[in-house]
Amino acid sequence: MTAKLIKGTEIRDQILKEIEEEVKKIKEEHGVVPGLVTILVGENPASVSYVTAKIKTAKGLGFNEIQDNQPEDISEEDLLALIDKYNKDDSIHGILVQLPLPKHIDEKKILNAIDPDKDVDGFHPVNVGRLMIGGSEVKFPPCTPAGIQEMIVRSGVETSGAEVVVVGRSNIVGKPIANMMLQKAEGANATVTVVHTRTKDLASHCKRADILIVAAGVPGLVKPEWIKPGACVIDVGVNRVGEKISEKTGKKIAILKGDVDFDAAKEIAGWITPVPGGVGPMTITMLMKNTLKSLKFKLGIA
Ligand code: NAP
Repeated sequence: MTAKLIKGTEIRDQILKEIEEEVKKIKEEHGVVPGLVTILVGENPASVSYVTAKIKTAKGLGFNEIQDNQPEDISEEDLLALIDKYNKDDSIHGILVQLPLPKHIDEKKILNAIDPDKDVDGFHPVNVGRLMIGGSEVKFPPCTPAGIQEMIVRSGVETSGAEVVVVGRSNIVGKPIANMMLQKAEGANATVTVVHTRTKDLASHCKRADILIVAAGVPGLVKPEWIKPGACVIDVGVNRVGEKISEKTGKKIAILKGDVDFDAAKEIAGWITPVPGGVGPMTITMLMKNTLKSLKFKLGIA
């Protein structure tokens, strides 16, 4: 293997330690801790598992974590009223509504009802606009793209003047990370190209990339010959390609593969993220960082 492995688990642990220390300091100096409410509607098993992980992380950091579980048949009106309650609650700095919501509820309406200054997921149109403007306007960069940028920067990869190619243009990964990398800012200043299903000759774009960020959701889409020698390859894709029995627990678990042919790519790239254990662990971490940031904005110390 020639590429340096960018381990999301190690970077996650570093950042969580930094957050924990800051939470302690703020508690000592200001007598407050970050407050995060997680609203879960219904009992979708995947959502329960995400929410459980978020709650565990928040509690471990010393946050005031409120788990607000609501029945599957809650009305849209009642859910909006609940959000309004948390918008007005001074002890709450981050509001998280776990998606997907039941079909009778308009997701967009719910997400747009969250106070943009408590929207730690960074999906509210106000925060999307702030991200686009950049600089001091930015409050809450969306968590997966923010995690990707942290991984690049903390691995010592030069971004200024770099050719960044982003495969995928979703609102949660492709578009925001492309926007973040082109900002006139540290950890950015890149020349950015975004490619998608209508792009002619995907390979030729990928081959130019000093930093290749792949978020397509297509296992093995990026071939090793598309990778520039020495490039930094960030594989965001998480694709279930089968099942196996876990050696640790003896239970059935999913076999996960990224969007990049990892085994071959690691012989060409300069840096590469594994799947699993790469970008995955960063998302919840950045959610915690945004919640802490929200409290810091409120205290005027951000
Ligand atoms: P998405 O909304 O489905 O968007 C996929 C994007 O990739 C689209 O813009 C699509 O182009 C493009 N694309 C798909 N197939 C392509 C192809 N053959 N050639 C070129 N472009 C192609 O997906 P997403 O939500 O961004 O997620 C992408 C992947 O990242 C998924 O595997 C997801 O599970 C993973 N993910 C991981 C994390 C994490 O680890 N924390 C977080 C979020 C997502 P069009 O726009 O033209 O359709």
